[in-house]
Order: sequence, then C-alpha cells, then structure tokens
Amino acid sequence: MSIITAIYEDNLISINEYHRKMTGKIQCKLCKSTLIAKKGEKVIHHFAHKSNYDCDSWYYRENKSQWHFTWQNICKKEHIEKIITKNGIKHIADIYNPGTKSVIEIQNSYLNKYKINDREKFYDNLIWIINLTDSKDYETVFTNGCFVCIKIVNKKKDYVQYMNKQIYFDTRNGICKVIKHIRKDYYICDVIPYQDFLSQYFLDILKKSTNETIKTISHGATYLDFVKLDTKDIEYRIKTEYGIDTIIIFSFVFFLFIILFVR
Ligand SMILES: [Zn+2]
Repeated sequence: MSIITAIYEDNLISINEYHRKMTGKIQCKLCKSTLIAKKGEKVIHHFAHKSNYDCDSWYYRENKSQWHFTWQNICKKEHIEKIITKNGIKHIADIYNPGTKSVIEIQNSYLNKYKINDREKFYDNLIWIINLTDSKDYETVFTNGCFVCIKIVNKKKDYVQYMNKQIYFDTRNGICKVIKHIRKDYYICDVIPYQDFLSQYFLDILKKSTNETIKTISHGATYLDFVKLDTKDIEYRIKTEYGIDTIIIFSFVFFLFIILFVR
C-alpha cells in the first residue's frame, strides 16, 4: 500500500516535503504505525508501512501508478488520502472535497465487482476517475457534437461495467463524463472541458491555479479534440463495428428466401 501523506511530529507532511534530515518518527494517518519514506530513483516516491502491513484492506498490495499520484498531487495535502469514518469503520479516500462532501476515487488498476460495490456503498457521494490515457485502452466508436461513444478495449479495464456511481474517463483526448452505459464495454459520454470538471469537483482544494492544473492533467489535450475527429474515420468505425451483424442478418434472410421459393 503506497501513500503520499503522513504525520511527522504532529504535522501533516507530503512525500515531496520529506527529506533525510527528518529523523523523527513518521506515522500512518490511519493506523498510527511507523512508515518509511521511499524516495529512490526507480520507484514513484511514497511512504510504506515499515512492517509491510496494509492497514486499509481495500488497498492491500495495491501499488499506485504515476497517473494516480498526478491526480492526487494537484490537490492540497489536507484533501488527499482523507480518512472517512462510517459506522466505526475507517477507509482512506483518494481525494475528499469538504465543500461538495464528495469522494474522488482515482482508479487505474483492476478492481473486482465486490470491491467496487463495497466502495460505492461506503462513500455516500462518490465519483470515479478512470485511467484511459493509454491509446490501447479505448476506441472512439462515433462522435456527435460533444457526445462520444467509447468502447473500452483493454480487458484489464472492463471492471468499469460494474460501477454504478458517476464515472469520468480521463482519456488522451479529454475528460468524458459517462451518461449511459449501453452494453458491456460501450459508453455514451459527454466530453467536458477541464475547466468545468475542475470547478465542479476540485473547487478550493487545488494547490495551484486552474490553468496550471490543466497543464498537468490534460496531456496537451483539449476537450474539442473529440469533436474534431475526421468524419470519414467515424463512418469507417461504424461500419467495422456494426458491419458483421448486418452481413449475418442479410445472409440469413437470403438463405430463407432460397429455401422457401427455390424448392
Ligand atoms: Zn497504516
């Protein structure tokens, strides 16, 4: 379980603020046990439990990606890895916005449907941000103005179908708000500007200005990238998506015709 905030001499610190001269005890916010800072060249900088024990069972052996930490790092340290208590049970939320009282879960790695269900039940007001920034993660089936149909092609990400709370895809072309899950891996989305997304969920919790933050999270994309997609390309995609079905139905009708009338 990798975390990027901890308690040092009664103060909240982030891994970026930690340096070797800090010789006192670093404590976990949740279980108060000792943490060690891992700031090597090969690993993503983080804190880990000295005893190798994961105090939050939800994050057992879960190593977070650079993408995950990038989203957390845009927020002030007091709003990330927030401990949420419900019925005496505690869990660490990736990001918590006290203004909107919403939990933002940043999801890259695989989650089974039971874990998804547990988190959706535990956090009253939850949104998911899913990592589709790799070109192999998804395909654009078609676009219509700011609406886009996305097909998740990375099988390791097909767990999204089990999510019932609001989902946002972080794609290499912008932020897509899921408005309808049509079938297994197909989602109709509304492409929304980064500015609107940040002002809805990250108001008052950002470390830097909105424009600076957009530079960090946008991978150079603008929300209009989807809208500008070549229409010929879209027509081709529709044909390749639905062409096979049409051919099968046509062949069936043709053979039926032959059997009925040629005999
Ligand atoms: Zn702990």
